[in-house]
Order: sequence, then structure tokens, then C-alpha cells
Amino acid sequence: MSKLTETSKLTDTALPRPVPQPGILEISAYVPGRSSTGNARAPIKLSANESPLGASPRAIEAYRAAADRLEIYPEGSSRLLREALGEVNAIDPDRIVVGAGSDEVLHLLAQAYVGVGDEVVISRYGFMVYPIVTRAAGGVPVFAEENDYHADVDAILASVTDKTRLVYLANPNNPTGTCLPASELDRLHAGLPANVILAIDSAYAEYVTDPDYGVGISLVERAENVVMVRTFSKMGLAAVRVGWLYGPAAIIDVLNRIRGPFNVTMPGQLAAAAAARDLAFIARLKAHNAQWRDWLTAELSSNRLRVLPSQGNFVLVLFPDTPGKTAADANAALLEEGLVVREMGGYGIPEGLRISIGSESAMRAVAACLKDFMDQ
Ligand SMILES: *Cc1c(COP(=O)(O)O)cnc(C)c1O
Repeated sequence: MSKLTETSKLTDTALPRPVPQPGILEISAYVPGRSSTGNARAPIKLSANESPLGASPRAIEAYRAAADRLEIYPEGSSRLLREALGEVNAIDPDRIVVGAGSDEVLHLLAQAYVGVGDEVVISRYGFMVYPIVTRAAGGVPVFAEENDYHADVDAILASVTDKTRLVYLANPNNPTGTCLPASELDRLHAGLPANVILAIDSAYAEYVTDPDYGVGISLVERAENVVMVRTFSKMGLAAVRVGWLYGPAAIIDVLNRIRGPFNVTMPGQLAAAAAARDLAFIARLKAHNAQWRDWLTAELSSNRLRVLPSQGNFVLVLFPDTPGKTAADANAALLEEGLVVREMGGYGIPEGLRISIGSESAMRAVAACLKDFMDQ
């Protein structure tokens, strides 16, 4: 060790050190849903909104076939996947950007349009990634209050200032499951200045059954400041990491300048393209989800629990603050049965537990456990 190094070790605190950009140290890293029970029970994972029916068999086949060409770089623009998405959704493939999960495209948007001190409006119980990507870009998240766990268009619009660059809105929202009708999205867009981007995150679109829903495509087509963000993660491909964004040509051009040149793997592109075209599998997933989302909602509601109306593949259940009957107590009872759900303290909803819609046996086990819990 040189003398210089030894000396600098001694005076460590006085030396300059690498300092991250403004905002970074204010980020609390994203905490994924837990996957173990912490006891001897084998976990039944209902904490990350994953598909209970696995992946599309066609996607699995495409993924396996890609194993023969792992030495070749992926096609950089995800063209074959954009073409599949264009076909299935009747949209222009040139106005799609694909990312390594929708997390990546949410990051790219903030990186491209938000600078130090700029504001990003987020609904109070909006998806936790939005404040992270905002702060990572040096921006300031501004939270708009909700109306009984529903995003409130008037509160969002009232939060917009000269510094606002972006509004992120998950619809349906994770973790509440609540959803605004297309008319409310239109009203939100109409009230925003033309230089503010409205990012509609339709991660759960495949699960929505409300006829008044609008996924965001028609709004993108009518406006220069609206993007729709989607993911394959909630429909069976969470491990593969593929998400995408549909938007106006000018925004697509910007995002393509900053994304990694080979940001999506070739097995991922092929599996997602096959999954996008497997409409029969998507329909099966949607039907299973609707049946057991309704069933679980009815069962828990009849046990004096409040279940927020959900359009996603999960429900948010609200527990009383009576000692012995709280969400934390219920979580402990569920873990005893091997049932791993999502605690909501990090979202500022300590009274809630988010439960993914799983297999029939998992749903029956959850309902039975929470019935015993409430009856005790
Ligand atoms: C799960 C989720 C995503 C993240 O999806 P990835 O594609 O896995 O990164 C994005 N938005 C919302 C609202 C989600 O719930």
C-alpha cells in the first residue's frame, strides 16, 4: 500500500467523495412483494399480481426456440414485437417503443422530459415506481389526494403548476384496483396544458371488464401529449421483462434516442410477440380472473371486510383498526396458512392488504382463512 493511500484512509472524512445527482438519495428503493412465508409452510404467492395460469403455451414455445441463437444480438428496435402489437391493437408499429419491462419505459419518459426541480403529478396511492423515476430524473413528485381510494381528476388538475412536465396515472391503479372511466381520462386530458405529458399506465388492461373503460389508444391518437404504457408482466411473462409504450411520433423519436440500442432480449421479443397473438390464452386468463375476483370480493364482503371494487388481477382489502383484527394481524394469519399477500404500509395504506387473484384453491384458502380470522 502506498503512503498516499494510507494517509487518505486516515483522513477519509475530509476527502471529497462521489456524490449522486440531486434527488437520488431521496429514493426509497422499490420493495417487491415477498415470496416466502417466514415459517415452514410452502408459500402460495399472491403478492406480485402474477398469472395463476402460467404463460401462454405459444410464448413458452417461442422462448425455447430462441435458445438456438443466443450468440446473435437482438434486433434493436423490437420490430417483430412492434408488428405483432400493431396488428393485434390496430395501431402503427412505428409509434411503439418496447422496453425491458414497462418500468424501463416509465424511466425513459422521466429521463427525457423531467429535469431538476420539475414537477410530476401522481395520484396519492399511485404505483410506487412513479416517484422513483421522477426523483431519479431530479424531479419532484407532487401527490394529488384521492377520493376514497379513487384517483380524483379535479385534485390532479389542481396540482398542476408551471413546473409540471408529466402526469403518471395507472388505470386501473395498482394497488387500489380502482379505475376511472374513459370519460374521466378525457376530462383529465382536456384540463392539462399541451406541454404536459399524460402517461396512462394500462398495465392491467387485459383484466378490465368495465364497459366504460378506455385503454388510452383513442386518446393517444387524438393528442400530441398522451402516451399509453403496457406490460406483459401481468399476463404470464413477468420473468421475461417486456413492456411497451404507444405515443405520438415526436415522443417516440425522443425515447428512441435515449434507450439502450439492444434493450430487449430476443427470447423476450419472440415470447411477447407470441403472447400478444395468443388471444385464446388472454381470454382464458381474463375469464378466470373475473370469476375469482368477483367470488373473492363477495366472500370477503360478507365477512364484514371492505373490498375496493377492482378492475385488476388483485383486490385491495381494508381491515378495521380494532386490535386483533388489523391488516397486520390478518397478514400473520394468512402467513400461517402459507398465503403470501402484499402489505401496504409502504404505500401509506397500513389498513390494507393487496391480494392477487390466484388459483381456485388459493382463493378458497384465502376466503376460509379470513372468515376464521374475522369470526374469532
Ligand atoms: C406491475 C406494474 C408495472 C410494471 O410492469 P413491468 O412491465 O413488470 O415493469 C407497471 N405499472 C403498474 C401499474 C404495475 O402494476
